[in-house]
Amino acid sequence: MAPAVWPMDTDRLEEACGIAGVFLPSRSQAGDAARTLFFALYALNHRGQESAGIATCDGQQTYLHKDMGLVAQVFNEANMAPLHGHFGIGHTRYSTTGSSILRNAQPYLIETFHGPLAVAHNGNLTNAVQLRRELLQRGVGLTSTSDSEVITQMLAMPTVGGSNPLALWMPTGSWEDRISAFMDRALGAYCLAILTREALYAVRDPWGFRPLCLGELDWEGEKGYVFASESCALGTLGARHVRELAPGEIVRVDASGFHSNRSRRQEAPNFCSFEYVYFARPDSMFEGQTVHHVRQNLGRYLAREAPADADLVIGVPDSSTPAAIGYAVESGIPFSEGFTKNRYIGRTFIQPGDHLRKMGVSLKYNPLYSNLEGKRVVMVDDSIVRGNTAGPLVQLLREGGATAVHVRISSPPVRWPCFMGIDMPTRAELIGANAEVEAIRAQIGADSLAYLSLEGMLAAITADRRSRLPSGHCHACFSGAYPVELKEPFDELTLTARPAPSDRT
Ligand code: SF4
Repeated sequence: MAPAVWPMDTDRLEEACGIAGVFLPSRSQAGDAARTLFFALYALNHRGQESAGIATCDGQQTYLHKDMGLVAQVFNEANMAPLHGHFGIGHTRYSTTGSSILRNAQPYLIETFHGPLAVAHNGNLTNAVQLRRELLQRGVGLTSTSDSEVITQMLAMPTVGGSNPLALWMPTGSWEDRISAFMDRALGAYCLAILTREALYAVRDPWGFRPLCLGELDWEGEKGYVFASESCALGTLGARHVRELAPGEIVRVDASGFHSNRSRRQEAPNFCSFEYVYFARPDSMFEGQTVHHVRQNLGRYLAREAPADADLVIGVPDSSTPAAIGYAVESGIPFSEGFTKNRYIGRTFIQPGDHLRKMGVSLKYNPLYSNLEGKRVVMVDDSIVRGNTAGPLVQLLREGGATAVHVRISSPPVRWPCFMGIDMPTRAELIGANAEVEAIRAQIGADSLAYLSLEGMLAAITADRRSRLPSGHCHACFSGAYPVELKEPFDELTLTARPAPSDRT
């Protein structure tokens, strides 16, 4: 048998972005807002590791620093010192639309007729190509390939309105008017943190695809506000988790306090079920329940649907561990660890080369021989996307002494691409779209393979849900039932392959 090779976790999906906003009392110290945002982004770094940025404002001037890299690599004392002001926004990015280059890093900061505007975006517009085309036809120059720049320019756009299909934005009015006008036109996923000279805005799209929550800070007796993609960032800051923004909610925070409005567009809620399955941090809370708790539920439902005759349940660390615990509790089979994971592998690393590959260099996981020797093992993983890592993992377990490996997946087969903010392979690359379960089992070399059903996944997500908001979850990547109409062919739905003007030769 060829030695197992595990260069990295290439079968994981990538979250699009994390965003944050903070509004501190005006008497806070210079740099406090930027530092607060730094620590919020630090907690959100799992949502994007390619670039990071912070824009701040003191009520007069705006300040910006952004660069490629992890949050801790992008910021230091020297480049944060000039980020004055008591309010600001931050962003950590993984590219979905637009390539991974500094020009696409966020926040975007532009000067508009209405004053400075900075925008941080998490999500993906499904009509970005059409909106970009309209902006270009209107004479607006664009510098990047990101749909987030399209959003920024649309928020700045004054028009005359009327029946002209290219004149679709509000003629004048407030930032709220322009945000509402943008929401009338935009399709798809967008959580926004918006900075103007006077205020901070937080916006969640009417479907509520991506998460966004509000927290309160006690700033030496005065109240401060924090927005973040996930509540784990609020915990890092010692902020009180107030609530999630409702789908379609527009929140403004300024010197007079907190104001909430709703978009004119109303849609059925469609919170991304994959946030629970894999993307979000386990200590984050959505819909009144921690992600960790939901992942345990996914494992429990999986054990009921797909039992196995085994001695040990293990999870693929770290995201699958809660589901493995849930499987173990429900099945009565003991849980233990089966792999040791090297947690210091970043997104870029040195490839082992052919010689080391042949030696079976496993950069990310090693089997725990003492736990596996002579055991029939249930290996719980959260998903199989391309199918190029489950096989090496099964092989590692066998090399570690397992006498049988039963693979259990705590979500249904991924069969459709995502156009709502997750970097997803094409259908041709998704193994679940191109092979039946038995063929996948044979390919990965498992003794048995079973997935959680769609009904089981949704039941596990809603079993202990506690929220005042209506329930509804997107499952398009599993079912093909897209909550938004996709007007373009799949391969033209994103801006990814479209070069920015200066890229053209
Ligand atoms: S298609 Fe999948 S990954 Fe994308 S928003 Fe829907 S559930 Fe989430």
